[in-house]
Amino acid sequence: MAVKTLIFNKLLLLQVVCGSRRQLILRIKKMGNDCTFTYKTLFGPVPSRRLGISLGVDLMRHKTCSLDCVYCECGATTHLTLKRKEYVSVDRVKNELLAYLSRNEKIDYITFSGSGEPTLNEGIGDVIQFLKADYPKYKVALLTNSTLLDQQAVRRQIKDADVVMASLDTATEAQFRRICRPHPNLDLKALIDGITTFRKMFGGRLLMEYFVVNGCNDSLEELIQLKKILKRIDADGVLLNTLDRPGTEVWVQPVGRNRIKKISDFLEGAEIVQYTSVEPEMAMRHEDLMARLVSTIRRRPYTARDVSRIIGLDVETVQPVLDRLVASKQLTVKQGDRGLFYLAS
Ligand code: SF4
Repeated sequence: MAVKTLIFNKLLLLQVVCGSRRQLILRIKKMGNDCTFTYKTLFGPVPSRRLGISLGVDLMRHKTCSLDCVYCECGATTHLTLKRKEYVSVDRVKNELLAYLSRNEKIDYITFSGSGEPTLNEGIGDVIQFLKADYPKYKVALLTNSTLLDQQAVRRQIKDADVVMASLDTATEAQFRRICRPHPNLDLKALIDGITTFRKMFGGRLLMEYFVVNGCNDSLEELIQLKKILKRIDADGVLLNTLDRPGTEVWVQPVGRNRIKKISDFLEGAEIVQYTSVEPEMAMRHEDLMARLVSTIRRRPYTARDVSRIIGLDVETVQPVLDRLVASKQLTVKQGDRGLFYLAS
């Protein structure tokens, strides 16, 4: 680990010394022959039904967020905040992207998500502009909890993304407090107004995500209100999600398949979120499988079957790797509805 950190510091130094990005890429490629690069802000790539092969970028420290959702798959929020700052260095993110993208792997989207709210990082606009200018062949997606969209500066910074998936988990203030447990200075009306204003200025694809928690936001009254709000926002699509892996609170239950289908019909064809399998040849090019596995699972728990789909290897091959990571205490396990989930220790 110490050697890998040293290598990364060397890359940062090279950028200063070389000055030009072209030189930097060449040097990274040369070094890439004999070293393994450790990514701290990138994870995946993971397959996604809507985004194809998506490389994740995490701009936040673990569980720094404006919400503390009861269903959060990354655990309880440890730093509940509305303060925007450079939680993760933009230079570090750019250097990791430079190193990763020089490998020319098949990626469709570069997606800002992870274990906190990405728009809290005030450098998000800088990273989006960097990708748009230097890597126009990749599309950019952002997963946001929508809480900062009422700020003009945030809307401006993210407007050049290709896809924004914005969460709206309830239509009522009471359920907002119950499900999302927001920062005390947030209110639902400002959040909805923020999304509506963003819709008007955003030229990309805006998808609204509704996470259905059994017995909380799935009543007819709630859904009638929601439908009105969604009509006003006029997004390009609505995604319905429900608990798929262990949430933060044990009382949170998923809604059944039939119920979510009925909600989808009521919302006039909202898409029910599912995974697809990954193209195997993508995974076979990953020489640093263990590091990738740990960095991906750090952001989201997966079963052995999920992992096998993501990396394109069968479960029998993946299972011993997971066992070794558990034995070395890099991963831990938790029982969920779909089986045994692997989480970062
Ligand atoms: S689900 Fe997203 S918005 Fe909610 S607490 Fe987790 S990271 Fe924050």
